[in-house]
Amino acid sequence: MTYNFIDNAIASATSPPPFDIPCLRFVEASLALAHSQISKGPVKPKFGGTLCGVYLLEEKIEGGNGAFTKYIHNMDYEPTMSVGMNGYDIAEFLVFTQHVQYCKTGGLVIISDYQGSRTLLTDPQILTDPSVGGGADVFSEGNLESTVALFEKHHECNRFCKWPGFGLKQFGSPVTSSHESSAL
Ligand SMILES: [Zn+2]
Repeated sequence: MTYNFIDNAIASATSPPPFDIPCLRFVEASLALAHSQISKGPVKPKFGGTLCGVYLLEEKIEGGNGAFTKYIHNMDYEPTMSVGMNGYDIAEFLVFTQHVQYCKTGGLVIISDYQGSRTLLTDPQILTDPSVGGGADVFSEGNLESTVALFEKHHECNRFCKWPGFGLKQFGSPVTSSHESSAL
């Protein structure tokens, strides 16, 4: 959804954006069910025996530990690293994707806990507005619903968000509160 939005915006813009668009996706994943091998006949049933294990298999993220980066912590609205540090450009782009998701879902859903390499992401957290679950537990206990409710207050638009070709309503303002100033 986010890349469709980006591609459509760039295709209809009068000039290209002054930045490259990082190319990321989530890993391929599937469930593997293990069954015990109990079979008396010559032909083993496809799903014979008792279910004895369920495994989540994910595409391997190459590059070792050094390639793996946490870009945005769950509940946070900004990159985990400072400007100029390794991975900041990706994290900044992912902050922008949250803005797109928020707008395209009418303020109902964003993805957080972004982590992985420079091309592959894994283990995200889906965050939803309280109205989405209707009181039910959706997307597990990491779904801290106040994060979406407070998105417009805490998200700070970056160079991706601000490109006029995307036509996004701008959120956030420069850091001026006494609390945040004293922390610097
Ligand atoms: Zn923004």
